[in-house]
Amino acid sequence: MIGGLEASLRRLTHYDYVEDKIKKSILTDSKADILVHGMGELAVCEIAEKLSAGCTIDQLAGIPGTAYNLRKNSPAPEKFFELPSCRQILSDNKLFMQAHLEYQKRCFPEGEAVVQDQGAGRIAVMPPSRPLSEAEMDRLYSLPFTRETHPDCRKEGEVPALESVKFSITTHRGCFGGCSFCSIYFHQGKEISSRSEGNIIKELEKLSKRKDFKGTIQDIGGPTANMYAMKCRKQKICSRQSCIYPNICKHLDCSCEKLISLMKSVLRWKKAGRGRNAFVASGVRYDLAVKSDEYMRILCKEFVGGHLKVAPEHFSNNTLKYMGKPRFGLFEKFENKFNEESRKAGKEQYLVPYFISSHPGCTNEDAEKLTEHLVSKNIMPRQVQDFTPSPLSLSTAMFVSGIDKNCNKIFTAKGSSAKKLQFALLRYYEPKHFGIISKHLSRKRKFRLLEQIRKKADYQKKRKR
Ligand code: SF4
Repeated sequence: MIGGLEASLRRLTHYDYVEDKIKKSILTDSKADILVHGMGELAVCEIAEKLSAGCTIDQLAGIPGTAYNLRKNSPAPEKFFELPSCRQILSDNKLFMQAHLEYQKRCFPEGEAVVQDQGAGRIAVMPPSRPLSEAEMDRLYSLPFTRETHPDCRKEGEVPALESVKFSITTHRGCFGGCSFCSIYFHQGKEISSRSEGNIIKELEKLSKRKDFKGTIQDIGGPTANMYAMKCRKQKICSRQSCIYPNICKHLDCSCEKLISLMKSVLRWKKAGRGRNAFVASGVRYDLAVKSDEYMRILCKEFVGGHLKVAPEHFSNNTLKYMGKPRFGLFEKFENKFNEESRKAGKEQYLVPYFISSHPGCTNEDAEKLTEHLVSKNIMPRQVQDFTPSPLSLSTAMFVSGIDKNCNKIFTAKGSSAKKLQFALLRYYEPKHFGIISKHLSRKRKFRLLEQIRKKADYQKKRKR
């Protein structure tokens, strides 16, 4: 049996960036009997119960949140959709996009199973397990996690990544943002499963009693910090990838009431002298945040430790459209509110904007627009990520197929020099990038912008000296 994030996202024929290759489902390649996708608790329990009741491997077929090999004794689900096969995709890249979109439409708990021929046998992928209820989330997060490095790894020293999460609290899981480059939709789902306020505060109390607690909770959040307790008002969620893009769905209850109540409880915990700080370090979805003045006030006044991460991802609306992100104007609205509330609170604090270079659909002209904006505002972003096509995201389907979800041909910066240029345009202020930028902008006769960049790069050079 295989599971976890890697297996989960490689459940179907997928693209592997490291090997630059379209690969069969990892279920086929690994020769496992069953694959658990998503967060897995319900599927693992059902598998365990069935095995201890004496079921054979073949009798595990059909459990939600799993994928399995179709054999004589484990037939296809009663109702399913057949995706383009691995062989068909290999001979026509555009079918990669078609397979992705057909799967996305069915990948929710009330959706439909899919079947895909891998060349070495067919597999069935069941719809995801239902989301956990509040009581189940509370029970899960009340388990005695040690928050320590696993004993087997201790000989190699401490795990550095643990440090940033050791005193963090997960309030919920799932994300309905549906950004094209993100696979959370396919792993955690878009329905939000939240813990109760009481259960979260209990964990806070428990953490503050630890000997190694120094008074700071590093993060209170989830995949998107401010989606806590938000939900769809309809009984059954739909197949739309995002509940907030291109517009906020009328069925979405995006009130911050419960989130604000939780934040106030955390403040009471702090005021009672049990901790010094509690921060929000998870990403904040700014198009939702600007809808509540009270949330913005409490966030800026009490929960920002000098810097707050936000992800406008780009400036060009053309690129933002491919990313499934709101228009840049909304980020500016958030930025204004953030600055205003920080000033009112008497705090000097900054936004840390995240950007992606070379996203599918992003032309060099789009990248230049972003550079022009950054230069004009004197923003020097440190957080620039070159696009990495992770399995099972819409952006990866664009990267592989060369088309968008409407089957229109798109430009994608591929190959190291094309990618380097877009990355350099975003980190324009670094002297090491000046050569590549200069060559490009001179060719385009953008001398004014080039001169501005040269000044910034020179300034950085002097500072380093
Ligand atoms: S109906 Fe609206 S709020 Fe509900 S799942 Fe669909 S898009 Fe989201």
